Amino acid sequence: MAELTLHAVRGMNDILPPESASWQRLESLFRDILRVYGVGEVRTPILEQSILFARAIGDITDIVQKEMYTFQDRNGVSLTLRPEGTAGVARAMIEHGLLRGQSPRVYYLGPMFRHERPQKGRYRQFHQLGVEFFGNGGAATDAELIALSAHLLAAAGVPAQLQLNSLGTPAARASYREQLLAYLRPQRDSLCADCQSRMERNPLRVLDCKMAGCQAIAQDAPKLLDHLDPESAEHFALVQRLLDDLGIPYQINPRLVRGLDYYHRTVFEWVAEGLGSQATVLAGGRYDGLVEQLGGGFVPAVGFALGMERLLTLTPVQPSPRPELFLGALDEPALGAVLQTCQNLRRQGVSVVMAGPGSVKQLLKAAQRSAARLQALLGERELHDANVLLKEQAGNGQWQGSWTLLEQGLRSLGVDFERGHPHTTAPSDAVGKLS
Ligand code: ATP
Ligand code: MG
Repeated sequence: MAELTLHAVRGMNDILPPESASWQRLESLFRDILRVYGVGEVRTPILEQSILFARAIGDITDIVQKEMYTFQDRNGVSLTLRPEGTAGVARAMIEHGLLRGQSPRVYYLGPMFRHERPQKGRYRQFHQLGVEFFGNGGAATDAELIALSAHLLAAAGVPAQLQLNSLGTPAARASYREQLLAYLRPQRDSLCADCQSRMERNPLRVLDCKMAGCQAIAQDAPKLLDHLDPESAEHFALVQRLLDDLGIPYQINPRLVRGLDYYHRTVFEWVAEGLGSQATVLAGGRYDGLVEQLGGGFVPAVGFALGMERLLTLTPVQPSPRPELFLGALDEPALGAVLQTCQNLRRQGVSVVMAGPGSVKQLLKAAQRSAARLQALLGERELHDANVLLKEQAGNGQWQGSWTLLEQGLRSLGVDFERGHPHTTAPSDAVGKLS
């Protein structure tokens, strides 16, 4: 029988070193920025009841119709791997009573799941950082959130262009919908198959379609912006004025709609160069109706989600950090001393790798592979003879002395002991008990 080869699920990626270091760097950069905006982290389960997404995102969206991983668990309950984060966060806020008289600002960071056709920048498991501001309906909150999104992208070093639109209120949108349908119907045959089938249910999606034929038709379609209700028009004008005040450039894109049903008024996207048709790295907008739709009363809200994979393809790859020191044990009696020293230095924040027991030749090879800045080899003899040789691998710096004075040697060769974590230092006997 042919042997079964195991592999990851199609469209789902393993994130390995050194790439995972870039993820960590970006994540901690983002967490630091979110802290100064007073935004706290929410971690919701990856599985939710399927009805949450049908109610939040809308039955006739691509996500709910075609993209969700939905299955019955052993009790026959229909569950769905979250395709986006906002619905679960809103559910959690309502469930824990956090929206009563409060205006929480929260973020989430984690995997999302959509059964799409995998391609560059489009995966079946992908990661989003999302931010949600609950409880404020004013244009200033939209501007503040957009400023936060600009801050994150700038910190990541990714140049992108901000596109802005307003979808108005659902009521104003309903009358626009009829006009748009009247424009689209005579041209139905020229639309792509997807748009033909969704046109009657969700004609706004045609404006957002990426097929060339549909884009050409969308170009001359009546504009939603010309049909805004007066309050939405005023709101949109104020968002623009505040962005001008903040010095954040934007482009009005009257064809910008979002793939989810819950948006009202302001919608925006940051579009980067060099990603082809997967150019949107961050997308969001106002969703004043969602919380009410989920049974939480009227709570206005605005938020965005940033695609981590797309962003990471645009950030320069950084070399993986090299260890500071390589320690090689030449024989078994030296192993204990080498291991203890490694632990001791690591508790002080110094990165150390070790190998052994092995011959000088083997250890030197391992030292080279480790790319550590400094190296030392020792066996039983060196431990007693006080002639440990600590050397730079690439330079000429070196130090020779007693094993017990190794830390002095390391300091003399520029090892930084200040980056340690004294509060996590375990007493050495506790470490002993672990092994
Ligand atoms: P698109 O139009 O590219 O399908 P979307 O409108 O479905 O995007 P959102 O649901 O608004 O995207 O998600 C916000 C961001 O998450 C996107 O701008 C993108 O950066 C990222 N994203 C969405 N779907 C995927 C995916 N399948 N793989 C990787 N990133 C994704
Ligand atoms: Mg999509």
